[in-house]
Amino acid sequence: MILQLQPAITSSEKQSIVGTLARLGFKSNEVTTQRAHYLVGIGKKEIDIRQLGNLPGIQDIHHVSDEYKLVSRKWKIAHSVIDLGDGVIIGDGSLSIMAGPCSIETEAQVDATIDHLLKSGIRIMRGGVFKPRSSPYAFRGLGIEGLKMWHTKARAAGIKIVSEVMQVSQIADMYDYVDIFQVGARNTQNFNLLDELGKVDKAVMIKRGISGTIEELLSSAEYVFSGGNEKLMLCERGIRTYERASRNTMDINAIPILKEKSHLPVVADPSHGIGIRDFVEPVALAALVAGADGIIYETHQRPEEAFSDGQQTLDFVESATLIKKLKKLEEVVRQF
Ligand code: PEP
Ligand code: MN
Repeated sequence: MILQLQPAITSSEKQSIVGTLARLGFKSNEVTTQRAHYLVGIGKKEIDIRQLGNLPGIQDIHHVSDEYKLVSRKWKIAHSVIDLGDGVIIGDGSLSIMAGPCSIETEAQVDATIDHLLKSGIRIMRGGVFKPRSSPYAFRGLGIEGLKMWHTKARAAGIKIVSEVMQVSQIADMYDYVDIFQVGARNTQNFNLLDELGKVDKAVMIKRGISGTIEELLSSAEYVFSGGNEKLMLCERGIRTYERASRNTMDINAIPILKEKSHLPVVADPSHGIGIRDFVEPVALAALVAGADGIIYETHQRPEEAFSDGQQTLDFVESATLIKKLKKLEEVVRQF
């Protein structure tokens, strides 16, 4: 169960709630986020929550039967919104588009991408500086210096940055230079990383694990939320199945399911989802119809020369076309 505590709760009121919960067979986990203060009660017994509702210090109380609690929509019906500042908001009912290269490569590439995004009205740029690559000999990113270079240019253009963090030590190094920490599919269950991201006051986007279930993705999100960070979004990026005709199998099903199970914004990544440049557009459009709050995809001025993931990367003409189609389709979807 989740008890939202009143902001002015006293420590003796809190102790008394924790004591009552313990008597009822529930272990209390205290969670303080940027937005609120909670006690998450974990126990096996079914109890009538009205027994607790009148205790001083409690603002709200909800029974949540899911394994994950704070990210569940059983507790919070309203969808969560993430404000990145400067008018860039995710999850407010409008579609957030995030685009950029798989990897940050050169200054010229960053300039060209920013120019393309500005022309298309896109305010969030993606790009990796720490790249998880299957081969140790492949390009592994420009690292923190590349991020600083990108950040200077993006800030000057009013563009927000989403970039992957691969390990705990990178969080502090990247903190001043990103707007959204991306947790990659290979790190969805890196619980140490998730714990640490719970301690930062910065948005986090968690990608679904390569062979991860929807429940596992939500449990990973619960790590970050219960660590104290509510600025969270989920990302469906395709899963590994027996199908070899595409890089991954984009699980469009996951989008409405995640929206129903959780109050967190849901982003779709058609680039990794299908892995085939020609089909990124239809999958992106399908994800919007399925209810995604955001679309993240890869674009590059010359995909054939990209240091990574060129086979699933749109050129700027294709990207501009996709953006136009997404905006047109969004108008239709909103009328439903
Ligand atoms: C990426 O976004 O470039 C990436 C490596 O994504 P994923 O973790 O989904 O494979
Ligand atoms: Mn990529």
